[in-house]
Amino acid sequence: MKDVISTLSKKLQNKELSSVELTKAYISVIEKQNGAINAYVNTTFDTALKQAEYADKLIKEGNAMPLTGIPMTLKDNIATDGLLTTCCSKILRGFKPYYDATAYKKLKEQGAVLLGKTNMDEFAMGSTSETSVYGAPKNPRNLSRVTGGSSGGGAAAVCANLAAYALGSDTGGSVRQPAAFCGVVGFKPTYGAVSRYGLIAYGSSLDQIGPITHSVSDAAVVYDAIRGIDKMDMTSCETPSSPTKLDGQVKGLKIGIAKEFFEGLNPEISSAVNCAVSAYQKAGAEIIEVSIPDLKTALPVYYIIACAEASSNLGRYDGIRYGYRAENYSSVDEMIIKTRTEGFGKEVQKRIMLGTYVLSSGYFDAYYKKACILRERIKGEFKKAFEKCDLLFAPTAPNTAFKLGFSGGNAIETYLSDVSTVPVNVCGLPAISIPCGTDKKGLPIGLQIIGGKFADGKVLFAAYFAEKEGLCTLPEIEGGVKI
Ligand code: GLN
Repeated sequence: MKDVISTLSKKLQNKELSSVELTKAYISVIEKQNGAINAYVNTTFDTALKQAEYADKLIKEGNAMPLTGIPMTLKDNIATDGLLTTCCSKILRGFKPYYDATAYKKLKEQGAVLLGKTNMDEFAMGSTSETSVYGAPKNPRNLSRVTGGSSGGGAAAVCANLAAYALGSDTGGSVRQPAAFCGVVGFKPTYGAVSRYGLIAYGSSLDQIGPITHSVSDAAVVYDAIRGIDKMDMTSCETPSSPTKLDGQVKGLKIGIAKEFFEGLNPEISSAVNCAVSAYQKAGAEIIEVSIPDLKTALPVYYIIACAEASSNLGRYDGIRYGYRAENYSSVDEMIIKTRTEGFGKEVQKRIMLGTYVLSSGYFDAYYKKACILRERIKGEFKKAFEKCDLLFAPTAPNTAFKLGFSGGNAIETYLSDVSTVPVNVCGLPAISIPCGTDKKGLPIGLQIIGGKFADGKVLFAAYFAEKEGLCTLPEIEGGVKI
């Protein structure tokens, strides 16, 4: 895996290349490739070129920072002042926020260059990015397969070298799982480590912005740029910075293996993960068996809590304040009903109804309250596991990329495929997905490394070993910017 960010940054600072030239190179490959991949739903090339000029000025003045002049992309649910932010939903058609999300603001302060907004499942609800109103993005490694979701566009853009890096959001796996499906790196920080201000809410107690990158070192650089407490987000918190030196030393590292992650797992996936674990063991890491007995409960707990929070968060889309408004109505009530019926897609409507149901007075105790109790229990089990080990190793997903169209007829199987990623959000933990091989069809498999709360640095540090050892190397996709 290439450290695209530091390589480009060096070239920019040595004046081998200007940011305007680099940005033009990305624009040209996006113009050629995006038709087939559908990673970008809105490009912001004018903004990008202006930002690139500013970056060149910073470099000339000797004020460059690690991300100065590097072209990137944001998921379409991250607010950008004056630029379309639609959550890939009809209901936010034409919506341009009046402010920037804090994570984007921090990147702008470094002189980053925004190429555009990337495709996603509508309101980040899904695991394939197929519920996007703009149609599904395609997996650059196999165009008949999905990218994963919901940050599928960002993962595809990075995989095809149509961006140096992307920011996605991860409520139940949406940074890690598409990264796994596309064979790139996806990092979900500790809950609150990156401000959620300006991230359009799905499940507020679960949502987290995270980077999708070509390498672990790139993920560490982006994470350091966007993390930190923010007065605009009460749930934000200060986390330790990434390790200043990623040296790949894993001697003495205690790796926990919870058998529950591996029960009934596809043998191709478990053997790829086990192979990676053995490499760590050979380098001196200690393998420790642990147990998270209620791991499987995390899936229903997640879907109850996520839908409950979504039903409340999405109440604001009423045709009055944002985006789309239905026509031909005779009362305000009718306008709201028509707007929401026409503006939201089927998956979003299903989740709003489910969420409303589990929060209703007759069912609150049976579903929502029970889910909250179980959530605490699962958190306790993870905490106990982390008393015995430093990190947990697991698969990112129990399967590789689905065929396009699969999720339409197989909703339950698709929900079930989130089994390994959602526990991390339920507990607010940091986790990374890095490639660890391919299946027989050549589709990438993801290794997930999970840390305790605030162990973000440890997660990145350990992941770097796999990268250094070449466990993660996948072929480069042709047609993107050559680094
Ligand atoms: N697949 C999960 C869902 O549909 C996770 C989505 C996400 O992380 N945004 O809810």
